[in-house]
Amino acid sequence: MIERRGILAFVAVAGIGAGVVGFGKRLKEIVPLTSRGRQALHPIYGNANTPEWLRDPKTGAFKLNPQWTLRHTVDLQCHSECGLRVKIDRATGRVQRIIGNPYHPNTLSDYVPVTTPLIETARTPGSVCARGNAGIQSAFDPYRVLVPLKRKGPRGSGQWQPISWEKLIAEVCDGGKIFADTGDPASKDIEVLGFRGLYAKRGEMMDPKAPELGHRTNGLVFQGGRIVGSRMSFAQRFVHTFGSVNVFDHVNICELSHHVATRHVYPGVNMTQPDVRQAKFILYWGTQPGDANFPMQTQSRFVAMARSKPDGLRYVVIDPVLSRGSVVGDRADWVPIEPGTDGALALAMIRWIIEQKRYDARYLSFPNEKAAEAGGEVSHTDASHLVIVDAKHPQARMLLTAELAGLGKATGKGDADRVVIDAATGKPAQAEVATTGVIDYAGTVNGIAVKSAFRLLREAAEEHSLAEYAAICGVSESRIVELAREFTSHGKRAVSTMYRGVVKHPNGYYNGVAVLMLNLLVGNLNETGGLTSGGGGYDVKKGPYDVMSVPEAAGAAFGVPLPREGVRYEDSSEYRAKVAAGQNPYPAKRPWFPLGFAVFSEALPSALARYPYGVDILIWHKATPLYSVPSQGNPDFVAAVKDPKNIPLIIASDIVVGDTSMYADYILPDVSYLESWCHIDTYPTTLTKGTGLRWPMVRLTGTTADGRHFCMEEFLIDVAKRIGMPGYGEKGIPDASGKYWPLNRREDWYLKATANLAAAKSVGGDVVPAASAEEIAIADLAPFQKTFASSLKPEEWPAVFGVMVRGGRFQPASAAREGSKLHYRFTKTLHFYAEETATTRDSMSGAFFHGTTRWVPPTTARGKPLAVLDDPKQWPFTIVTLKGALQTHSRLSSNYALREIMPENGVRIAAADAARLGIANGDWVAVVTPEGRRRARAVVVEGIRPGVIAFNAGYGHWGYGASNYAVGGQKIAGDAVRRAGINLNPVMRRDPDVWQMSLMDLVGGSAVFFNTRARLEKEAAHA
Ligand code: SF4
Repeated sequence: MIERRGILAFVAVAGIGAGVVGFGKRLKEIVPLTSRGRQALHPIYGNANTPEWLRDPKTGAFKLNPQWTLRHTVDLQCHSECGLRVKIDRATGRVQRIIGNPYHPNTLSDYVPVTTPLIETARTPGSVCARGNAGIQSAFDPYRVLVPLKRKGPRGSGQWQPISWEKLIAEVCDGGKIFADTGDPASKDIEVLGFRGLYAKRGEMMDPKAPELGHRTNGLVFQGGRIVGSRMSFAQRFVHTFGSVNVFDHVNICELSHHVATRHVYPGVNMTQPDVRQAKFILYWGTQPGDANFPMQTQSRFVAMARSKPDGLRYVVIDPVLSRGSVVGDRADWVPIEPGTDGALALAMIRWIIEQKRYDARYLSFPNEKAAEAGGEVSHTDASHLVIVDAKHPQARMLLTAELAGLGKATGKGDADRVVIDAATGKPAQAEVATTGVIDYAGTVNGIAVKSAFRLLREAAEEHSLAEYAAICGVSESRIVELAREFTSHGKRAVSTMYRGVVKHPNGYYNGVAVLMLNLLVGNLNETGGLTSGGGGYDVKKGPYDVMSVPEAAGAAFGVPLPREGVRYEDSSEYRAKVAAGQNPYPAKRPWFPLGFAVFSEALPSALARYPYGVDILIWHKATPLYSVPSQGNPDFVAAVKDPKNIPLIIASDIVVGDTSMYADYILPDVSYLESWCHIDTYPTTLTKGTGLRWPMVRLTGTTADGRHFCMEEFLIDVAKRIGMPGYGEKGIPDASGKYWPLNRREDWYLKATANLAAAKSVGGDVVPAASAEEIAIADLAPFQKTFASSLKPEEWPAVFGVMVRGGRFQPASAAREGSKLHYRFTKTLHFYAEETATTRDSMSGAFFHGTTRWVPPTTARGKPLAVLDDPKQWPFTIVTLKGALQTHSRLSSNYALREIMPENGVRIAAADAARLGIANGDWVAVVTPEGRRRARAVVVEGIRPGVIAFNAGYGHWGYGASNYAVGGQKIAGDAVRRAGINLNPVMRRDPDVWQMSLMDLVGGSAVFFNTRARLEKEAAHA
């Protein structure tokens, strides 16, 4: 096994104080590119490594260069999760190079079948992007925290004391006056409940008068940032077994409304993507190939390939900023739209397409799957399904059922119990029975006023003229018509796809639905060159083992989640009490998000406001809300987080002292992506089924007394065992026969999940062969097996090694298509009309949300138009964020290779605006918002809509090695490279009516990033 041989061995727990301070320099030396200034090793080849493969000149055969170990894992430098090939020095254990795993669909268009022996991939390495290459510096960051730290002094004082793992576990479990030794007067007398004390309350209700809030154990909150796939499942298993529902990741600051809007149109699906390589025309809304998208490098490559084919792809980026992916010229174009008005542009296009009858009327007339199939289609919609529009009807806004229509008992339920006007007879008929339905209908059925779903969309689109839409979105009428005409000129090989730029607005959900509806008009789902929901991944939770099962804890976790997601306000005791008292129940104290999930941005303010309840233990797992959530870095909010009376125990699981983890009580050293485990599915873009495997390439953190490397999982295991939770220890994981296997270390769990992956049912060409002796040697797996022998049955190792050697399990590329159709087909009814949305109320106003899309101007939670809240005359600019190819996330500031290419971000300003304000490129400017001001360099460009300013995410840190702190009394100096640039999130707009809440999309649940108004002030040269 590759341990920390010779690299970090000096960071021994016994010498943690000196080790923590001292390892920085040593680590710097092992990071490539920091050796600049020294004499190169070779006069010609410089410091280049020897190659990983050696070729016999006589036979042409390859063999591995014995200097190296090669392993395949999955990246996390962005959320594209590309497969990696990691080249590791056998002598030192250091990672020398990262390239692409050719078995992984993200890295090659024709990726290598999993049946191919590893040695045969020597000539076909996969690709990674610049961020992927630079990832070594994320793991081998000189600021890594490798041992547990406890604050000295108040929260946020920047003083840390290394403590042993045993002390960490004992204190956070047993609680008491655990901060008496910090020297902090504010917390020395606080009695902390700890995991044990809170777990002891697992039978108690949070509030007996509000039983829907669940058990007291909901006072444990796991706020995850960079956590996905089976790593998230591991955390969920712990939190749910503990008796809490509060375990979530970061989705609402990333893209939540995108998921919720997608579920509106494609029920149950969070993401669709174009079949890029075969499409003729793609509209990219609020995203661009080449920057953030899923998967970023793959989407970029596919676009480049498709665009360069004769008669190939043409695409248009609709975004306020011209970035890498929206290059203009041959077969690419850019529409600089006003931020947050994508819904207006999409509805204008919809209006024109319907008026001009350029939609696929035949396709839309099929009311069920069978009829569509008979007509040669591979998807069908609810265009002809009837909706009750009589506002006084008890089932108003719902879809008409067979019974209500007087048609007797329905043949099915849900989507199958719907009614259409049969196009053949002109009479009502069950949607499941009719072969074609009338798509544009308004009338009465059985005395009930109804309209077809398509009709409702048409009427919504007709609420504004093209001229009005053009004025809203800042795109001329003629350009709108051009876009609509071109979109409807390629049959089913045109796609409208969107991401973050469309949805991170108060009206984001409706914007997103409008953009996606365009696809329904051309009927492109499941078609080659159309849209796809992809092949998904394999089930790693079940198979030979049931890795999630803890029967003793069944039902322990229930109740309203802290961010009030997935639950209706009208089902709360608060609502009922107000109604019983004769009060208007609206608004709720803070918004509820019945259609959302992972409403990350509301976790901390809700905890601090104790609404709907307070929090006893908060775990930040690689979460940085103070840096990443709009407005949460403001001084008042930070002061509230620092006050230990508000949340008595905060534990950060992090790889550094980060911008938020610097305010924790303890930092639990976590593993970087090159040291961690995770199973993560591939994205729809690659069209086939696949699950990548991330597993430790190296092991860098300190170790427990029994040799386990510190990380989130080992922490949760040890906490669970100390307080006596079921599902951990000797009776850990049940196998298919009901026999239990121990869960005493993370490999006990992840290896069993990998055994499930290896044993999953084959879909053809995807069975991973057992690893050969040669492959085991290449990946240096023999010592691994020795260490973890008891985690699997002996007969399971060959197949599990096969998966580890290939970095996952993937269906072959050849399975993507069947003739002109895609292999994987989503067959549920596609929705013009979402009944669930239409019957859900806004918890602030009490009004129902709209069941179809329409143009909705952005407002605060209480409905105040943003244009009134912040007068554009006083605040002439709108801030937008960018996720570029070099820095997309908060966590890449340690990647000096990337920082050398782009040392700081600055604020992008349109040349016309800059000229008007007398600002030159490189000038210092102050960006002033209603929440504060920040200084930055002006980056004057042509490629941005005037009136918009933009900053690239990931710069302007105050933690993550950007500022000084001390460990064990020894100063660790911050690095100006990490401080460079600007982060405007902390001065983004708060909602004036809800304490410390960013502007929010109340339907889709997203935090709003693109609606803060600002002005620019030219500043004197920076000191
Ligand atoms: S797109 Fe780049 S950074 Fe993102 S996972 Fe792939 S290689 Fe890594």
